[in-house]
Amino acid sequence: MQGILKLDVAGRPRGWLSLQEAISAYARGDVVYGIGDALPTVYGGTQRLTGLRSSLTLQPIIALDGRVFDNFTPPLSNRTLFRRDDHRCLYCGNQFSKQELTRDHVIPTSRGGSNEWENLVAACKRCNWQKDCRTPEEAGMPLLAVPFRPNEYEWHFLARERVLADQMEYLSSQFRADRQWAH
Ligand SMILES: [Zn+2]
Repeated sequence: MQGILKLDVAGRPRGWLSLQEAISAYARGDVVYGIGDALPTVYGGTQRLTGLRSSLTLQPIIALDGRVFDNFTPPLSNRTLFRRDDHRCLYCGNQFSKQELTRDHVIPTSRGGSNEWENLVAACKRCNWQKDCRTPEEAGMPLLAVPFRPNEYEWHFLARERVLADQMEYLSSQFRADRQWAH
């Protein structure tokens, strides 16, 4: 189902809404502004008194009233981590399916490595096994890219399989220049 990108009033991405959630936000009067080409009109029930059918035109990005938070901690999951690395093993460079990839700790946890974005990469099972409990230097397996913590624009893109053109344009304006995600 199509998702609506939710922003705070400052324009920062704050989640994905279902169509129903977006309609409720309009009904509550919480939508401060919308961005992007109108989506196909959504029709509601017929009003008994007027005989008119209610309808609503949604935009793909909406900013909701409410508090603005400065901090954003991108939730970590294998799905978003593998998407960050373009489903590529960062040791051998080959692309794999989700099932064939593993979460590799660059500095192994047994050596004090953290379970954070900056210390995690996608790795195929073979490379993960070969690297074992060693650092890339010790294993002679240099990383093909530096693992990073996605900002809120990048994370909202990674968290969603289907993104509309207007949403992609909005989010990608704040992507790091060296990421090649816009395909
Ligand atoms: Zn590999």
